[in-house]
Amino acid sequence: MEKPTSVGFLYAMGEFDLIARYFSNIGVKRTDVSIGVGDDGAVLQVRDGYDIVVTTDTMVAGTHFFPDVDPRALGHKLVAVNVSDLAAMGAEPTWLSLAMTLPSADESWLAQFAAGLHETAEYYNCQLIGGDTTRGPLSFSMMAKGQVPRGKAITRAGAKVGDYIYVTGTLGDAALGLKLVQGQCEISKKHQGHVLQRFHYPSPRVALGQALRNTASSAMDISDGLAGDLPHILRRSAVGAYVDIQRLPMSQALKDSCTAEEAMQLALSGGEDYELLFTVPENRRGSLDVLLSPYGVPITCIGRITGAVGKLELKAGEQPYAYQHQGFQHFL
Ligand code: ADP
Ligand code: MG
Repeated sequence: MEKPTSVGFLYAMGEFDLIARYFSNIGVKRTDVSIGVGDDGAVLQVRDGYDIVVTTDTMVAGTHFFPDVDPRALGHKLVAVNVSDLAAMGAEPTWLSLAMTLPSADESWLAQFAAGLHETAEYYNCQLIGGDTTRGPLSFSMMAKGQVPRGKAITRAGAKVGDYIYVTGTLGDAALGLKLVQGQCEISKKHQGHVLQRFHYPSPRVALGQALRNTASSAMDISDGLAGDLPHILRRSAVGAYVDIQRLPMSQALKDSCTAEEAMQLALSGGEDYELLFTVPENRRGSLDVLLSPYGVPITCIGRITGAVGKLELKAGEQPYAYQHQGFQHFL
């Protein structure tokens, strides 16, 4: 009988050749990796006085990406979405592992996918230290590990009444990029590149996340849209919030491509921006501009934390704004 978990029996190129050729030198060569790909487990040197932060993200063909996606973009995105979770915790990304399930071994596809993984892992100073390879429906599961000085991880649980709420960058661009890919909207030529870049090649705010360690009271990354994600901070912190929708940062591409109403919808509910959402106590607000200016990423104050536990109130200036969030949930 075929051994179902091993691709070696089924691929023209054995599983071990495939790993050795494409996945054994991904990212930088870190000096804190004693043993990487090739043994039963990786051996990693843990820094004194640091905590390890661990996160996992899975991408399934047909659910998280189109089967015909550019494999280089997919490789990039797999690393980026994981690294973004580390950024949200204030951690420095260090090590990645990759569990992949492939229906077949298409070498040119794998070479491009590995190139995407490599470029992004290298950019964020990470090393791929192991993984698992099986045959089956196309899907990838990456685990990323990072390090943060002991006790300094930023969580979703620290927001306090009166804290100011900030987001990095602009919101809604990736969702507009997705619409463009799906042929659901028309966008002028001059803006297409921007929204496609934002959808296919998100830029996790890694350096900025680390800079927030002693300043933000809570943080998370926006993967499912602001209106769906901010409630996670509210629940974990047992607080409420108001957000002024007129302050949501939007790119020129978004403003030029949609009606004001559609742009608002995408900025509130559009997923996959991978911007950071964070809260800052009033007495630390003044240091933010100076602290964050080296990173070249704009930040925008969009609202404040309130005592109305679990309640997210949207306002347009002083007026209440009625809004039903249409986020994506796998099991609904
Ligand atoms: P084992 O059977 O002991 O679990 P494997 O044969 O699955 O080991 O893997 C051999 C080596 O290749 C291990 O070091 C493993 O971490 C690594 N590896 C397997 N798949 C991948 C992958 N997709 N990317 C990176 N490393 C991988
Ligand atoms: Mg083993």
